[in-house]
Amino acid sequence: MEFLPHNNKAVDGQHEREAQFLATDRDVIVIGGGDTGSDCIGTSNRHGAKSVTNFELMPKPAEGRTEEHPWPYWPFKLKTSSSHEEGSHREWSILTKEFVGDKNGKLVGLKTVEVQWKKIPGERPQLIEKEGSEKQWPCDLALLALGFTGPEKSLPEQFGLTFDARGNIKGENNYQTQKASIFTAGDCRRGQSLIVWAISEGREAAHQVDTFLMGKSTLPQKNMAGDLMAV
Ligand SMILES: Cc1cc2nc3c(=O)[nH]c(=O)nc-3n(C[C@H](O)[C@H](O)[C@H](O)COP(=O)(O)OP(=O)(O)OC[C@H]3O[C@@H](n4cnc5c(N)ncnc54)[C@H](O)[C@@H]3O)c2cc1C
Repeated sequence: MEFLPHNNKAVDGQHEREAQFLATDRDVIVIGGGDTGSDCIGTSNRHGAKSVTNFELMPKPAEGRTEEHPWPYWPFKLKTSSSHEEGSHREWSILTKEFVGDKNGKLVGLKTVEVQWKKIPGERPQLIEKEGSEKQWPCDLALLALGFTGPEKSLPEQFGLTFDARGNIKGENNYQTQKASIFTAGDCRRGQSLIVWAISEGREAAHQVDTFLMGKSTLPQKNMAGDLMAV
């Protein structure tokens, strides 16, 4: 999370661009084929990257909903964002094995291997590396967009808060942690999510904090008559 915030602040005129965060004339490889990866691809293209390649560990999804994911399950469909349309080479079922440096330690390439997912009934699928599929790719800027690993731990730990199995701050349904005067909401409570959820959780938590302090609250709450939009 250095490349995108740095770029956003530069666009906003908050600071000058630093060369290390510029993709201009560089062979960029974005590791991770999710939404953050897509943002990295778009930003690299807008910087004028020499090439932009995207690695994804999972196989290429189908264009439409498959029998394995019938409604109402989440459809694992191929997503092509406007950033992808700006230009990128996308590779699926690929695992990065090594970062290759020159004699000065500067990144010059990535070594990869193709992978397959072996289904084992009742167990998690197993990742198998394909023999003889090793390849080296030119790369002088690698961007890691590999997923949300949970909130930063040191401050919550100092407060004596605990975490759920996914590493998020544990909170009750009323957003209160096990420390009565500390509440949690948003990505740090529910894990990687969306702006709409952050807004919703922020409002709900505000209502709960108000109730905790004042004994009641007139702040909007989801299950009130009507919905938040009407308030
Ligand atoms: C690259 C990327 C692209 C995304 N694109 C979309 C999108 O297109 N649409 C969408 O709906 N969602 C998108 N999301 C998800 C969305 O940004 C989040 O779900 C949302 O921002 C969560 O809001 P939040 O307030 O819970 O946390 P955040 O927005 O992460 O805010 C937490 C804030 O707390 C600060 N902080 C952390 N620790 C401390 C501390 N100890 N003291 C003080 N401050 C601290 C952080 O610096 C941060 O500013 C994207 C996320 C990423 C990473």
